[in-house]
Amino acid sequence: MKPFHVAQVSNRLYRRLPACRPFDFMKRSQISSVSRLEIGDTAGWKPALRNAGLVFGIALLVLFVLAPRPALGQAPDVPIYKQGRKEFEQDDKVAAAAKELFTSGKAVKLAQAKEQIKRTSCQIIVPPTNSTRLRPQELCVLGRASHLRVGWGYYCDKCDDWHINLAGGYVINTNGAIATCYHVINPAHEIKDGCLVAADEDGKVFPVTEILAANRYSDAAILKVEAEGYKPLPLNTNVYPGDRIFCYSDPLDHRGYFSEGIINRFYQFPGRWSFGASASTANRPTRINVSTDWAPGSSGSAVLDEFGNTIGHVATIGVLTGQEFNEDEGTVVRGPTMIVFHDAVAARDVLLLIKAPN
Ligand SMILES: [Zn+2]
Repeated sequence: MKPFHVAQVSNRLYRRLPACRPFDFMKRSQISSVSRLEIGDTAGWKPALRNAGLVFGIALLVLFVLAPRPALGQAPDVPIYKQGRKEFEQDDKVAAAAKELFTSGKAVKLAQAKEQIKRTSCQIIVPPTNSTRLRPQELCVLGRASHLRVGWGYYCDKCDDWHINLAGGYVINTNGAIATCYHVINPAHEIKDGCLVAADEDGKVFPVTEILAANRYSDAAILKVEAEGYKPLPLNTNVYPGDRIFCYSDPLDHRGYFSEGIINRFYQFPGRWSFGASASTANRPTRINVSTDWAPGSSGSAVLDEFGNTIGHVATIGVLTGQEFNEDEGTVVRGPTMIVFHDAVAARDVLLLIKAPN
């Protein structure tokens, strides 16, 4: 089974939707119904959930009567996201800002991007790793502060409209260098022309002014954005299976989703997958299996360790299902989900794009 990329699934995972409609503009009902098909059969859970829901509802009602009513459902300063139609309002603003950057020529356009994406290394300075352990809520704040949405604003050659298609990225130094996936910035076929942009968590939009270096095989890329004052994440390669990790990303348009997990294992691609990297085993791209949660839309988002370093970034998700034989029809059908693999690009492969200054 070939894992699919997490940012660019709109035409593959959601193939029942018109190909020209990027993920950003899909209705939530379509997303949830289709994604449930992909994740596995949950129909069997529903009756149990209904009863549990009833009991939970009654319990809530009792609590509602007995308990004093708090003003907020969360601690002060915790961001609240808009779910449903409202959530697209910010995207409309980001799309408009991206179009302006395209018109003004401040951001890297398609033709330039196709050239610059061939650059194999850059000279930048990144901060040393942190060694002070942080609490999960501090890591969430840090994850949010260093997280940018990155990708294309573009004219679509299928419908001639202006769309945006953004996934994740993270700040790696104070001079505007950010890291993301190669597949996030690699222009899709339906882009007639467009430009690369980044947006912060408050919806402020910045031009990507340059692709500094990229590697298709490791799925790592470093860009320069015209944005300052963001908290950079140091890149940590001194990591072990079992290490506690965290991920802040936007899976399936659920903005600001924070999850915890551990490092499961490290692996390298054999043969064909490693072409383009140096032939030696040492330089083959390294992937990390982790147990944090992510989904399409999360690509390029940082995976943090307990100290507020990044150990790499979100690359792919692979849903492995079994096969069942339908005796009535004599056909093989897809069985239940057996395991979901979350594969991250290793911080090492981002560092391999950086050459020490002479
Ligand atoms: Zn379109």
